[in-house]
Amino acid sequence: MTRIYNPLIETMSRKDLVDLQWRRVRKLVERAHAQSPLWRGVFERAGVRPEQIRSLDDFRQRLPTIGKDEFLADQLDAPPWGHRLMTDPRSLAFSFLTSGTSGKGQEVHGRTVGDLFETGSSWATSLYWSGVMPGDTAYHMLPLGLTGGPVSMFFGMQAYGLQVFLAAALDGEARLAMMRRFKPNFFAASALYLRRLTALCQEHGVDPRREFPQLRSIKIAMIGYEIDWAREMEDFWGCKLTETYASTQSGAGIASTCEHGVVLPDGRRSMMHFLEHKLFFEVVNPQSGKPAEDGEEGELIVTSLDREASPVLRFATGDKVVFRSHCSCPCGRPFDGIEAGTVARYDSMMKVRGMNFWPEAADAVVFKHAEVDDYNGIVRVADNGREVVELRIRFKDGVPTDDAETRARFLKALEAELKENTNVSMRVLDAGSDGVQSITYKEKRWKDLRRQSSPTPPTGG
Ligand SMILES: [Zn+2]
Repeated sequence: MTRIYNPLIETMSRKDLVDLQWRRVRKLVERAHAQSPLWRGVFERAGVRPEQIRSLDDFRQRLPTIGKDEFLADQLDAPPWGHRLMTDPRSLAFSFLTSGTSGKGQEVHGRTVGDLFETGSSWATSLYWSGVMPGDTAYHMLPLGLTGGPVSMFFGMQAYGLQVFLAAALDGEARLAMMRRFKPNFFAASALYLRRLTALCQEHGVDPRREFPQLRSIKIAMIGYEIDWAREMEDFWGCKLTETYASTQSGAGIASTCEHGVVLPDGRRSMMHFLEHKLFFEVVNPQSGKPAEDGEEGELIVTSLDREASPVLRFATGDKVVFRSHCSCPCGRPFDGIEAGTVARYDSMMKVRGMNFWPEAADAVVFKHAEVDDYNGIVRVADNGREVVELRIRFKDGVPTDDAETRARFLKALEAELKENTNVSMRVLDAGSDGVQSITYKEKRWKDLRRQSSPTPPTGG
């Protein structure tokens, strides 16, 4: 059954939806030009006046995309929110900071109460599509921090009327014990963590189909996955897997799989439909600059239509996605979207414990120290299911000294410096002193072993 949450929008014709989008884009263009020196500057540099933008095609073709660097420069110019902020700072209910670079390098996105209501309505749609109902018991297993996604999800779950357990801080055994006590109708976790939880169930002889028969769906986010794995998970847990796309700039809950979940009835990957009345998205081939056709890959560019405080116009996310037309999903909704399970990056960014992390940020910290010859970075999953980041440092000969205590102090100080500059906790080890002789310094300094070190999925329920 098609689970329509907002009949007015979800049963619109594609043409009516695009008309609505255009009216909202036009309003945003006028407002951004009138209220924000940053956006006014973007228009002026492009040599275009708001009244010259007369269609969505004009908007796409005449307004350049904007990136993270321009937001950061703007914030330095007008700290702390930049000229992007279109409301009185005193009207902000929340500010999100993007993660992964130095303290000064984090974008700030303010949200008013109105913005939070909009986030709530996006999540309500996403949750309803996922088969979840108000009054249900839910577990939130994504790490809460300063970034937008997981916190917005928490607001959204509460606003929709779910009883939410914030389980991210518990270890795997404690989470499972809690789930056996307060039976879940729904939980949200990274695809990576779902692997771990599945292995824990197997270790403890927990059959989710028997123990959690009321489980309606599982929401996964953040990390890509194989379609076979998704099918196996649905079989093991006895419910649909659903997926939601989020970024601090685009907002959370803004694109989700519909009632089909991540696997279509014919076994193919499904799509995440963007709520296009709230967000105008484009998928653009970075080489040709042309919009991607159905099934083609490109960079995701977003324009937020429902934001009061810090809307973005043609923000280039750096996310590599596969464009899917609404026609490719049997649900019949008019919303286009992106393929489920295949969101990746054009740059080297990795998601670590829910934070965006660029290895270059670690390079900048480590190589400031003349004592360091080189290092290897590893991201892996520890036995307790937590993601662990390890840096193995190779010292230059005789530097700082061969004295173990001095080296240990240096490594501790480096750990603190890395945490401060990247927001990600790392263990810094001496590659020389712990007997690691075979460490190879290939051109790729970082290795992501999370998929390999995850427990293998079960073969059936
Ligand atoms: Zn659909």
